[in-house]
Amino acid sequence: MSERVIPLVDQRHPSLPLPTVSAEQDLSDLPLDGLRRPLTDLRISVTDRCNFRCSYCMPKEVFDKDYAYLPHSHLLSFEEITRIASVFVGRGVRKIRLTGGEPLLRKNIEILIEQLAALRTPDGQPLDLTLTTNGSLLARKAQSLKDAGLQRVTVSLDGLDDAIFRKMNDVDFPVADVLEGIAAAQAAGLGPIKVNMVVKRGTNEHEILPMARHFRGTGIVLRFIEYMDVGATNGWCMDEVLPSADVVRLLQTELPLVQLDPSAPGETAERWGYANAQGEYDPALGEVGVISSVTQAFCGDCNRARLSTEGRLYLCLFASQGYDLRQLLRDTAQSDAALAATVDAIWRGRTDQYSVLRSLRGPDTASGPGRRVEMSYIGG
Ligand code: SAM
Repeated sequence: MSERVIPLVDQRHPSLPLPTVSAEQDLSDLPLDGLRRPLTDLRISVTDRCNFRCSYCMPKEVFDKDYAYLPHSHLLSFEEITRIASVFVGRGVRKIRLTGGEPLLRKNIEILIEQLAALRTPDGQPLDLTLTTNGSLLARKAQSLKDAGLQRVTVSLDGLDDAIFRKMNDVDFPVADVLEGIAAAQAAGLGPIKVNMVVKRGTNEHEILPMARHFRGTGIVLRFIEYMDVGATNGWCMDEVLPSADVVRLLQTELPLVQLDPSAPGETAERWGYANAQGEYDPALGEVGVISSVTQAFCGDCNRARLSTEGRLYLCLFASQGYDLRQLLRDTAQSDAALAATVDAIWRGRTDQYSVLRSLRGPDTASGPGRRVEMSYIGG
């Protein structure tokens, strides 16, 4: 079978030159980037394919039947992913999130999960291993994911109204099947489960309260995400962003909330707990989160790196170029120590703070040679 050649990613986004490192590089200190941020969180995209066509992420008009996805030989193999993940763990990473595309579409993903679950930090701890999914295959796979060693899942769900949800995923996928997937994940013990809802003004803001009512008191943490200007194909405009502050105000009209402390440094979500009749946080009612990627820059403590489906390392969700680590992984002369030295050098050179800069000068128009890569490729 012949492979299709994919011009999209390679030609539009040439990779950045890899730093030259010495074989004797001192690896005794974990790297801090140019803004003194550590590297603790790695997101790995395992496929650039998805079975949904959400207009804010993979619009049908662009990702149609002729769209050239990466051929299999371009994807990192499970062994390559596990090897580079282990190098990252040696350089400070404590949390790995598998994403995509739709990660559950990657064949035998459980094998990769087993391999990653076996990794240990230098002080012998298991990783925080999680996965973001649209939930469409979760009912079928929740137990095998748990058995393979996955700890928890985040499920994307943009509303409970079936008509709105079918329209947003644009493949007529029913909401009931995602809810069944969430229930299966809960039954399998893949918790604490988070549910991400992208809020688009004029499309699904009427779903905010029904979603909050539905998940309140279930142990599931619902998070509202501002519609972001990621990629270059979703036709983003500020008018369609509903600021998180408005979301919190709307929730408060019916469900009193109190603000909670961040659970970890670099946490992207602002946490709000449901209050009891005394106005105090009631853990039995749970919490919601808001992710203000557009209206409130949170670059200051961003500790995340992203590995694309074909092994490029991106230092920011809004980056246009990455570093080709696959080239190193497929070079038999490269030892793990050399890979670690390269990761260190790349991280130490990092100064990205796209959201801060955007809030100062406004969003890019996302066209031209510096256009940003798609979220489905870099991993959401
Ligand atoms: N297919 C998986 C899923 O649906 O969760 C994982 C990949 S998806 C790119 C990861 C997350 O990014 C989802 O929660 C999705 O809603 C979110 N996302 C995609 N495009 C976005 C955008 N333009 N603004 C905000 N969130 C977005």
